[in-house]
Amino acid sequence: RAREGEVDLRDMSQETQSVIAYTAAHGLLGDAWVAAPHVEVDADGIVVRAQAGTPHDPPPIVHDLGRALLLPGMVNAHSHAFQRGIRGATHVRGAHDPSSFWSWREAMYRAAASHDPDTLFAVTLACYRDMLRAGITCVGEFHYLHHSPDGRPYADPNELSRQVIRAAEVAGIRLVLLEVFYARAGAGREPLPEQRRFCDGSVDAYLRRIEVLRGEGVHIGVAPHSVRAVPRAALQELAAYAGRHGLPMHAHVSEQPQENVECMAEHGCSPTALLAETGCLTRPGGFTAVHAIHLEAADFIALAGQQVCACPTTEADLGDGIIPATEHLRSGVLLALGSDSNAVVDLIQEARLLEMHERLRTRSRLCLADPDGQVGRNLLDIATRGGAAALGRPELGRIRVGAPFDACTIDLGHPSLADLDPAQALDALMLSGTAAPVDRVFVGGQRRR
Ligand code: ZN
Repeated sequence: RAREGEVDLRDMSQETQSVIAYTAAHGLLGDAWVAAPHVEVDADGIVVRAQAGTPHDPPPIVHDLGRALLLPGMVNAHSHAFQRGIRGATHVRGAHDPSSFWSWREAMYRAAASHDPDTLFAVTLACYRDMLRAGITCVGEFHYLHHSPDGRPYADPNELSRQVIRAAEVAGIRLVLLEVFYARAGAGREPLPEQRRFCDGSVDAYLRRIEVLRGEGVHIGVAPHSVRAVPRAALQELAAYAGRHGLPMHAHVSEQPQENVECMAEHGCSPTALLAETGCLTRPGGFTAVHAIHLEAADFIALAGQQVCACPTTEADLGDGIIPATEHLRSGVLLALGSDSNAVVDLIQEARLLEMHERLRTRSRLCLADPDGQVGRNLLDIATRGGAAALGRPELGRIRVGAPFDACTIDLGHPSLADLDPAQALDALMLSGTAAPVDRVFVGGQRRR
């Protein structure tokens, strides 16, 4: 029997030998918003047919998902799963607390120092289950807890990475492990004691670790933490390695103005310019700038053709600032979304805040519309295929023939949507809703909730 709070999936698993069809009220198939979507999934979890309306030769098993929207599973491009544990612990102001990003970081560092392999597994598993409940089927974990609290490697130097991998496997969510390289507290400054467990000591030691994981088939991204934490020469080496192997590259970029000031003092240029100069922006595999908030005009040009991952609930929580999303889109940057600190695990809220912050900033409406003027659809695209592209998994993020069936359903009977014409429900979901109406979730054809 399924334990309380878990979904009993046996009814679905008995049927994995044959093609199964799913139907719903409305859905997004590829780029088409259709009534009565019909999707057939083979025993390997791959979509083998996707069309509007029932075909003349449906397979024997057809699951009617009912009065629901069938949407692609969302792709979360930036997560620190362990930070979910402190979401209730950073909201009381101390007498001498500057109440800034940097004081929040002290609370986060205390949590980072406290974890052992078992507790890291537990908090990560709980966070990934929350993601699945929110319709997220793939996560990019920007993982920087590598070694024991004093900085010494565990017997297996990948011990903590393996706990993250295991948590994803147990939860049943897809994982791209964005392995972080971290070297220092800032220009010319040794890592602080609480940063030692983030540090591999050399690029070679870091690459040895990720070579092992890649050899085991783990989806890996190369992630210099930030230009503050990684010196110029290491950025060059990491970019060269990621380029040679076509791996996606991610870094925190210009989240706080102080990072820009320090970069200017050390290198005489902006963080984005330094990343361009060290080859991070001109290589196969693609580059994702996480945050990219405090930019100069030249930075937008340098980021053209790359990706920016916005994390608006975290950026609001930490007082980072507002992502200039309109300027990014105008420069040809593809956007993605991340739940980052996981204080909120809900990409629908992230998407809505991305648009709403832009409305507040520009004092206008319908800022992030696609060429057809659709905002809700565009936000869903950012939450699905935007993340898939950022994580180097372009086969994900859409329901289409040949792709894994990663999908979620939105219950149109949910109180937040029940009064609506299904044709308007997607805009209502993306622009006035949350992930609460997410009902069923599939990863590779397997039901996860
Ligand atoms: Zn982050």
